[in-house]
Formats: sequence, structure tokens, C-alpha cells
Amino acid sequence: MIKLQVINCTKKYGDITALDNCSFTLTSGIYALLGPNGSGKSTLMNILSTVISFDTGDILYNDQSIFNNNDYLHCLGYMPQYSCLYEELTLFEYLNYIGNLKGLNKKYLLEIIPNVCKQVGLLQVMHYHLSTFSGGMKQRAMLAQALLNDPDILILDEPTAGLDPLKRVEIQNLISNLSKEKIIIFATHVVSDVENIAKEFLLLKQGHLIYKASREQLCQQLIGYIVEKEVDDEEYYYLNQKHKISSIHFDQNNKRIARIINNQKDEKNTIMPNLTDVYLYVFEKELNND
Ligand code: ADP
Ligand code: MG
Repeated sequence: MIKLQVINCTKKYGDITALDNCSFTLTSGIYALLGPNGSGKSTLMNILSTVISFDTGDILYNDQSIFNNNDYLHCLGYMPQYSCLYEELTLFEYLNYIGNLKGLNKKYLLEIIPNVCKQVGLLQVMHYHLSTFSGGMKQRAMLAQALLNDPDILILDEPTAGLDPLKRVEIQNLISNLSKEKIIIFATHVVSDVENIAKEFLLLKQGHLIYKASREQLCQQLIGYIVEKEVDDEEYYYLNQKHKISSIHFDQNNKRIARIINNQKDEKNTIMPNLTDVYLYVFEKELNND
């Protein structure tokens, strides 16, 4: 069983503590790294992929430090938040280039590149220039380069950013299919990207890891707090000041139904919380405290 341990990891940029004494252990499966912009997701991803160093702490892969550890680098796949495609190359040329940088054998590359293109649904366009690719195709090309070395650890920093809902689902399914025997870390601030595919959720708030738990465990905490009811304009205005409104919809009779996260627990008339409620509850408090 593969194991990745982050132990008391801290990273500062001048006065900003981007990651504050973070500790957790991952085994195989998909982990969602959730948090608003600036919460430290990319910092953590960059540290795990050894792109940047950290100030204190340690990271162990199967009980060995990841530093100066070629075994770790060989089993790592990284898809950064910002694309680094060379648009004048074809997809094949690009993957061949990245494969060479990764030190992969030329013969192996000739076999693996079409396989990886097939996996991400780009086999038909393998010899097209990247400049002709749509946003979704570029994201999948970035994912393809991360898969070239058949990594045991796959680090994906906002892999669905900028995609429409259909493309998001495609990427989610693709990642879900890859997850056997791998550690996959999927950073996003979009709950729906990960709520059905992640085994656990790591919630990062201003550099602190505040939760590492399953969806059920997270939702459990808000049982008794979520109410759905019809609200008129006046009541909506009042509720919006006092409570967090998780969502609004109009029913068949055009009545406005609000999903409300109460500040206090109420045993009556409450409904099952979902992960979006948890996200709003956890991170809204941060906004209110500012
Ligand atoms: P996220 O990916 O969750 O949006 P980041 O890890 O990019 O968060 O950023 C965490 C914090 O660290 C933010 O306050 C950000 O401004 C700061 N930060 C990130 N990278 C740098 C850098 N290279 N130099 C200075 N500050 C940085
Ligand atoms: Mg980021």
C-alpha cells in the first residue's frame, strides 16, 4: 500500500504563511483539496511535486523523505494550475518532449504516447497542433503529460478550471477511472467537481488544514442546521442578513424556496446537509470574521 505523509509542514512567503504546520497521511484513492483562492492549495501542490521547498517539516513517501529521492520523482505526475503547453508543437511532439525531460526511454514513449492520448480521449488529434485545441482539449493534454510515466502519485491543481459542465464531468470521470492503486490529489474550489469522486476531503483555510474527512463525516457536522422553506421578499432580506443562504430556487408554483444554514441547531424540520452547505458554512465564517 502506497503512503504519503506530510509532517508539520510550514511555508512562508515573507510575512505570509501560505501553509501553517500542516500534517496528514494519504493512501491510495482520490483526495479533494478544497479551499477558496489564496488558501494555500497551489503552495501545497507545488511542495508535494517538489517544485518549491518548504521552511519546516518533512514529507515522506513510503517512509522515505521525498527530497533528493529519484524514486519519488519517477512515480510523480503533476498537472500545474497554469497550463505550460507549447502551442506550436503537435500533441505527440509535446508529449515526446515532456517524456524526454522526464528521462523516459524513447521506445517506451513511442508506445505510451498513443495509449495516454487514448486514455484522455485525444488519440484522433494526436498529430494536431496544440494551438488548434479547445480549452477542454488543452486541459486533457496537460493531464496526458502528467500520466506519461504511469505515476503512483498524481497531483492535479484545478484540472477543471474554465471548463463547461460537460467537460468537467468528462475530466471527473477520467480521473475517477485512474484512481485504482494511485494517490490522486485534486485541488479545486468547486465542490461539485469532487463531491462524487473523492474518498476524503482536505479543507484548507488560510494555510491551515482544518478538516480531513469523508463526505459523510463532514456533512454529519451540520445535521440539524439546514432548513428549506418558502420565503417572501421581506423574509429573504432578513434571513440573508442573519444566516447563510446555501441556495435559492423557484418551485413549480413560482414560490421562492431558500435553503438556509441556521446559526443554531434545530431538531425540527431540518434536512440532510450536503457538501456545498459544509463548504459555505466553513468558509463563510472566515469571511464574517474578516
Ligand atoms: P490557492 O492555490 O489556494 O489559491 P496559493 O497557494 O496560490 O493559494 O496562495 C496561498 C497564499 O500564498 C496567498 O496569500 C498567496 O498570495 C501567497 N503566495 C502564493 N505564491 C506566492 C509567491 N510566489 N510569492 C508570494 N506570495 C505567494
Ligand atoms: Mg491555486
